[in-house]
Amino acid sequence: MYRTHTCNQLRLQDVQQEATLSGWVQRVRNFGGMTFIDLRDRYGITQLYFDLDLDAALCEHARALVRESVIQVRGRVRERSSKNPNLPTGDIELVAKSVKVLSPSATPPFTIEDQTDGGEELRLKYRYLDLRRKPSQDALLLRHRMAKAARDFLDANDFIEVETPVLIKSTPEGARDFVVPSRLNPGQFYALPQSPQVFKQLLMVAGYDRYFQIVKCFRDESFRSDRQPEFTQIDCEMSFVEQEDVLNMFEGLAKHLFKQIKNIEYNEPFPRMSFAEAMRLYGNDRPDIRFGMTFVELTQQAKGKGFPVFDAAGLIVGINAKGCGEFTRKQLDELTKFVQRPQVGAKGLVHVKCNADGSFKSSVDKFYSQDDLAAWAKAFEAQPGDLLLVLAGEDAATRKALSELRLEMGNQLGLRPADTFAPLWVVDFPLLEWDAETQRFHAMHHPFTAPKPEDAHLLDTDPGKVRANAYDLVINGSEIGGGSVRIFDSELQAKMFKVLGFSDQQAQEQFGFLMNAFRYGAPPHAGAAFGFDRWVSIFGGYDSIRDVIAFPKNNTGRDLMMDSPSPIAQEQLDELHILFNKLDNK
Ligand code: ASP
Repeated sequence: MYRTHTCNQLRLQDVQQEATLSGWVQRVRNFGGMTFIDLRDRYGITQLYFDLDLDAALCEHARALVRESVIQVRGRVRERSSKNPNLPTGDIELVAKSVKVLSPSATPPFTIEDQTDGGEELRLKYRYLDLRRKPSQDALLLRHRMAKAARDFLDANDFIEVETPVLIKSTPEGARDFVVPSRLNPGQFYALPQSPQVFKQLLMVAGYDRYFQIVKCFRDESFRSDRQPEFTQIDCEMSFVEQEDVLNMFEGLAKHLFKQIKNIEYNEPFPRMSFAEAMRLYGNDRPDIRFGMTFVELTQQAKGKGFPVFDAAGLIVGINAKGCGEFTRKQLDELTKFVQRPQVGAKGLVHVKCNADGSFKSSVDKFYSQDDLAAWAKAFEAQPGDLLLVLAGEDAATRKALSELRLEMGNQLGLRPADTFAPLWVVDFPLLEWDAETQRFHAMHHPFTAPKPEDAHLLDTDPGKVRANAYDLVINGSEIGGGSVRIFDSELQAKMFKVLGFSDQQAQEQFGFLMNAFRYGAPPHAGAAFGFDRWVSIFGGYDSIRDVIAFPKNNTGRDLMMDSPSPIAQEQLDELHILFNKLDNK
């Protein structure tokens, strides 16, 4: 028997008992004739005691143990003279009688402690050691508990979990597909699913009514911060439902997770905001509503006073940073630098300080009188001591930049605490998005999303105006999930493909199976998918989704532990009929 107890089991009531423990050597401490070892396993830590006077050879042996070695220890439990109230086993220790090294450890490349000295790349390379650390363990346990709670909720609501294939056909869903060559079909490829979208819809056609799956999805996206090429979704679909039914069901799921995991109870419905409203007030379709600081437009008011930047702008819009009227020159310069960063993209920043005496000091005093600035302050409902921050330029870009500035101010002012949660539904997304580069419409969600019935007539005349029954669940400024009511009519689906620029033949080739399926009695259906990694990282207060994934890739998509992606042998390539015509760096 390797152990009679785990390292988090023995207590005062076990004193005098014989016990055998197995685990990792966390720490060895020597005090004169006494040696203490913290023995660790998944469950906790128990202190081992060795005494030079009792058994000199055993004590010497213990002193020589390298940390992270796996050992087995037999001994007797006794009450500790100096107790450790921070440890559940802190009242006792195991007086060792024998020690066996089950597996010695080389010196680990970083310390296996809560606060480690290892940088992220090193920890990813030795992820199996990083996973021994308590914070990693906590993350995976949280993930497990959330998956379990989600399954429990969905099961209780008649959803059944169905696995869908991983080797599928390439379908356009926004990102690039990862592809897999087929040895048995030379020159042909499978794709890895960006989501099980078409399968879950076909399961509805097949009559399964309520489906879910906690499922890996794959997207070959250019690297953006905190994305992983493979990630996990809680993927769901329901039949005979309208948008309202779906929102209620998945709000139920979210509330269940909040209650089970965070012990937070929401008695009120989650707030809802239209896409148009989110863009108008926050410049962002996933607003962080933990704090206000909403946009105020000055376009009408501030034009025509001779300030060229404003006069040329399509939009003049700002926020009121409450209580920041005392910001120094340096702080304001830093904010200007912030908005000028390429990711933010503004040219400059105009500020107005609302002074305690009711006067104003601005960076555009040359063009605007005290009365003008007082009128601005009124529009912002500003008080003495506030600071107005104003951007101007092309509409969409300016909103985006101001949204970044708003979030930055939220961070600076401590308005975005990790342990406060603000869920929100964003609804009424546009169906289509104009892509200036390719000069055509893209589906904003995906091509299977239904137009709102009242807007459907605009598909022929003004497609950009059509709104969809599509919705996103946003928590603290992160899109946690989203979905839509689906098209379930083959003619409407064919029309949608046409609007998206597919020829009839292309649509048939790529999606013939789906449109065909709709000819055999398709129920009205709708669904959603939730980004499980992000949800776990938000609930756990982690900085990155990498923290809550057992074996993540780094931020350039590499698995540093396995060193992948990597070249494959010529024979493998030959079998797959793959010939490279150009390799840039090799
Ligand atoms: N498949 C969609 C996605 O991955 C979600 C959905 O519409 O259900 O974003």
